[in-house]
Amino acid sequence: MALIVQKYGGTSVGNPDRIKNVARRVAEYRKRGDQVVVVVSAMSGVTDALIKLAKEIMPLPPEREMDMLLATGEQQTIALTAMALEASGVRAASLTGAQAGITTDGVHTKAKIQNITPQKVHALLDAGNVVIVAGFQGETADGRITTLGRGGSDLTAIALAAALKADLCQIYTDVDGVYTTDPRIVSNARKLAEISYDELLELAGSGAKVMQLRSVEFAKKFGVVFEVRSSLNDNPGTIVKEETRSMEDIVVRGVALDKNQAKLTVVGVPDKPGQAARIFNSLADAAISVDMIVQNVSHGTAMTDISFTVDKPDLLKAQKVIEGLKAESGYRELSVDEKIAKLSIVGVGMKSHSGVAAKMFETLARAGVNIGMISTSEIKISVIVDLARGEEATRAVHKAFIS
Ligand code: ADP
Ligand code: ASP
Ligand code: MG
Repeated sequence: MALIVQKYGGTSVGNPDRIKNVARRVAEYRKRGDQVVVVVSAMSGVTDALIKLAKEIMPLPPEREMDMLLATGEQQTIALTAMALEASGVRAASLTGAQAGITTDGVHTKAKIQNITPQKVHALLDAGNVVIVAGFQGETADGRITTLGRGGSDLTAIALAAALKADLCQIYTDVDGVYTTDPRIVSNARKLAEISYDELLELAGSGAKVMQLRSVEFAKKFGVVFEVRSSLNDNPGTIVKEETRSMEDIVVRGVALDKNQAKLTVVGVPDKPGQAARIFNSLADAAISVDMIVQNVSHGTAMTDISFTVDKPDLLKAQKVIEGLKAESGYRELSVDEKIAKLSIVGVGMKSHSGVAAKMFETLARAGVNIGMISTSEIKISVIVDLARGEEATRAVHKAFIS
């Protein structure tokens, strides 16, 4: 008998038939005698629809209320999934994140899990239930409902697998596993049999939304080995685990395109100490994560421009923060560009191979794609390109490095 944590994403629970399909899969494991904890997302489109609804009331809703609203998406699916199991004769009980003992900090809309006390989950399992837990949500110590950032059901599943010391953690989605790039953009992308935490971290951080970034960080930290696989077939998926020596033979494991970034440029910043600190401290205080940063050379003038990128949903908030600094900082103006995309290549093999950046830039040059910003890590190279050219650039780079 094994204890298994399974997570089903939005498409996998997207309509009543899909929910019944999930129940069938869970029932098979249950029949084998396994204990199963199921984490579900909101039905596909529901979280987006709730966000849209809120924005029709006000453009920047209080984040506490946003969490209250968004958490209802997953609450629908836990109940429906439990019903589908009961309908097929399998005992099931649903729990919200709070009921499952998931405690978070108070950073609404991107809360971090602080602690999981899974006594109730254990008790329900021991009483013979499949336990269905609402993904993406938790509760602060003082009882406020929080959410864990977009795609956060992945984190719920990984964290529960760690807390319950599960024997198996399976992430069911609408593709067969982790591919060399988004199979929706490149039709001949290849499924990977395995990938290291570090590579998937960089891919997820580069916009490959197949797994939420923070869920992979958590898995690495707590050594949770997991499999990404499809809820719609029985194909073997991708195993995500610590790096092994043979993984280094491949230079570029994957390519990612992130269309969810926006660029802000603070133009005419007085070139003196403390300016960058002021800007980025203020953004950090507002819990906005900044990705790429470029400061241009100030050509003898006493001014400089600082450009940086943030996730699109944070753009309005970031704009407000920077506008609030205008008097103090003395910068000239703030400009915003939403029509950008970030293209990245990732592979642990880059540590031991040279010329990778040159080949990427050459490929883009030949495709006539202009590079706006560049950043690198030991195992990743990212560039900012025009949004309209993003997919074409992804295909060119995938072809040059993978197939
Ligand atoms: P879920 O709702 O199950 O959480 P998501 O939509 O969040 O699913 O993530 C799955 C999607 O991620 C796929 O449909 C695919 O389009 C996209 N994706 C992006 N990059 C990759 C990749 N490298 N491998 C697999 N899927 C990817
Ligand atoms: N429903 C949430 C979202 O759409 C969480 C998730 O799907 O993992 O982001
Ligand atoms: Mg997801």
